[in-house]
Amino acid sequence: MTTIIDGKLCAKKILDKLRNKTAKLEKKPSLAVILANNDESSKLYVASKEKTSNSLGFESCVYRFDKSITQGELIKLIHELNENPNINGILVQLPLYEHLDSQEIIELINPKKDVDGFHPINVGRLNCGLEPYAICCTPKGIIKLLKEYEINLVGKNVVVIGRSNIVGKPTSTLLMNENATVTLAHSKTKNLKEITKTADIIVSATGVAKLIKADMVKKGAVVIDVGINKQSNGKLIGDVDFDKVKNIASFITPVPGGVGPMTIACLMENTYELFLTQNGLQDAKF
Ligand code: NAD
Repeated sequence: MTTIIDGKLCAKKILDKLRNKTAKLEKKPSLAVILANNDESSKLYVASKEKTSNSLGFESCVYRFDKSITQGELIKLIHELNENPNINGILVQLPLYEHLDSQEIIELINPKKDVDGFHPINVGRLNCGLEPYAICCTPKGIIKLLKEYEINLVGKNVVVIGRSNIVGKPTSTLLMNENATVTLAHSKTKNLKEITKTADIIVSATGVAKLIKADMVKKGAVVIDVGINKQSNGKLIGDVDFDKVKNIASFITPVPGGVGPMTIACLMENTYELFLTQNGLQDAKF
């Protein structure tokens, strides 16, 4: 029997807890989101982040810019948000307009307010086995999903496909920190099938629709699909040939409804945790 991992339900549990905890706070966690591109998906992601944040009782503000925004203006805004004690988390929705330097902007965010966990200090702390101020949301969500379904990671062969800074690399690091044996594959990897066939757990984050076929998966493997690929009919599908792979896997995430909802739940959890740290508060145990 294959278990379809329910990311929506798992995310709802996290959000419900955060809502209860926030209701008992005098001051509320606050998130500033910067949208400086005209990409339709980015607009949707930002709207969804704003809606979820408001639904938890957080204070959120979205800074939307047209193409006339300059690097200097964005730098000034980051400095202001860094200095503002009423802002706990700063999120810069990527990609930015092409004329803007996103790496410079990310590195200017105060690491203690870096809700996405993209600042080199937070990435470095994660790699050193130190606690970052925030862990990248999608990788954090993947680990939470695996734990929610009591999937043992210790000594397991995990193949992560994709080596981006926001998904593949931090996911590999987190899995290693959980004592898994990790192989990181990417677009230049040879004989991908031979490698995935050895995996107890596959995490695919490539953005290539149906890259992971049934004959690439070992019977009983756990399959986590991070990919989001829009088809010509507007439907979203993952990196995994879900209908075929689901007959082989022991656990599998659907797209949509798997990793996606966890990303946003972890973003909210990061905002809440940064708020606690900045205010010297302990987490409420309820
Ligand atoms: P990216 O484009 O930065 O990286 C893609 C990676 O896939 C690269 O490292 C590349 O080497 C690898 N790759 C590409 N083609 C490959 C192939 N044929 N074989 C093996 N490896 C290959 O993308 P990203 O930002 O890491 O995102 C990856 C996917 O995950 C996208 O579809 C994105 O939309 C999705 N995503 C989902 C969430 C979520 O919350 N569910 C969050 C972030 C990204």
